[in-house]
Amino acid sequence: MISTQANCNDIFEPGLLPVEQATHNILSALPAIEEFEIINIEKAKARTLAENITASFNVPQFDNSAVDGYGLNAIDLPKEGVTNLKIIDSAYAGQPSTKSIATGECIRIMTGAIIPEGVDTVIMQEHIELQDDIIQLDDRHQLGQNIRLAGEDLQQGSTILQSGRFLTPADIGLLASLGIATVKVKRKIKIAIASTGNELISIGDTPKQDSLYDSNRYSLYAALDRPDVEIINLGILEDTPEALLKSFNDASQTADIIISTGGVSVGDADHTKTALTQSGNVDFWKIALKPGRPLAFGHIKNSVFFGLPGNPVAVMVTFYHFVQPAIEAMLGIEDKAAAPKLQIRSTENIRKKAGRTEIIRGILQQQSDGEWTVQTTGKQGSGILRSMSLANAFIILEHDRESVKKGELVTVQTFSTLF
Ligand code: AMP
Ligand code: MG
Repeated sequence: MISTQANCNDIFEPGLLPVEQATHNILSALPAIEEFEIINIEKAKARTLAENITASFNVPQFDNSAVDGYGLNAIDLPKEGVTNLKIIDSAYAGQPSTKSIATGECIRIMTGAIIPEGVDTVIMQEHIELQDDIIQLDDRHQLGQNIRLAGEDLQQGSTILQSGRFLTPADIGLLASLGIATVKVKRKIKIAIASTGNELISIGDTPKQDSLYDSNRYSLYAALDRPDVEIINLGILEDTPEALLKSFNDASQTADIIISTGGVSVGDADHTKTALTQSGNVDFWKIALKPGRPLAFGHIKNSVFFGLPGNPVAVMVTFYHFVQPAIEAMLGIEDKAAAPKLQIRSTENIRKKAGRTEIIRGILQQQSDGEWTVQTTGKQGSGILRSMSLANAFIILEHDRESVKKGELVTVQTFSTLF
């Protein structure tokens, strides 16, 4: 029987795997990383918390002033007109007043200072008239104003961060405000990257007439250069089934994920396919996606394997759409600020047929009337890496979507939330 083989240039063919199905197949076949390590909070940004954090005391620990001003008792607030109060002491952050006020008295108080005894209200210094040690205030103030209550930031006993949280700079500050020096986080995920293809040379090699510098391993290296990933760089692999299989088997001793690029389509020299077919557990998909149609996914021993296409743009698109979500799922990241997908007006017509997802490189920019719009970067060939470099966003044209007319809304995912 002759079966039709996928070719990057054919367009619509029955039996292509929709993007959502590929994503589902990937996410349901991933092992979770369970091991953790304990690290200093200074190094914990962008790591995944592996414990719940509970506040062991209130933050702030005591009621304190929210402003620079004067602390008084609300009994002395004038119902109408003005009142004069005598300043009997000063309270500073870190240097409290030990006095307590009586009727007709107040205490000069600075932001962050403990609220002295008898004080239940603070008046901003801008709202009084000062004459020697007497303040005069009017009738626009209310009981309790300008006081920060103990526990209003973090309440003793409450869980402030949950296991699975992808730690942000603010989270690190919260940990510090509880005096916590170290946290338990998921260990780094180990990811091996390799390039395949006899035409490839490394930076520093002497170019031949038909050689091509390996760029995929560098764009992947940069995309993976994040605090929760340890990269194992396997270099350019010798393109024979035996050599490839040996390299992948060796890498599977240490790597949680192995990513190779190239050799998953149907060219004669695509030995990756031969090698992986022998290794058993890898499927070769033809995804209804442009760019990024051929994709191999499966397992090599204990490693998850992604065989990305060779074309440099297809590599980046499939990395961000399939591999990055897989990494985050394996790390157990459950609580991370979502990368929003926005609906943005296109300033140009974009040709598209229903039946596959197209991920177009776009430039999101603000017009003089303030509206954000998107246009394409121009030529969209999957070998044109500059289309990624010029872009600041993906324009995602969904499976069933047809051509876009200038002025229509399209789905846009900005790079700043991905990289
Ligand atoms: P392949 O999927 O191996 O047939 O590769 C598809 C195209 O991508 C070919 O034009 C390759 O030369 C190119 N290519 C493959 N690997 C790389 C790489 N690591 N860096 C740059 N281009 C590559
Ligand atoms: Mg190749």
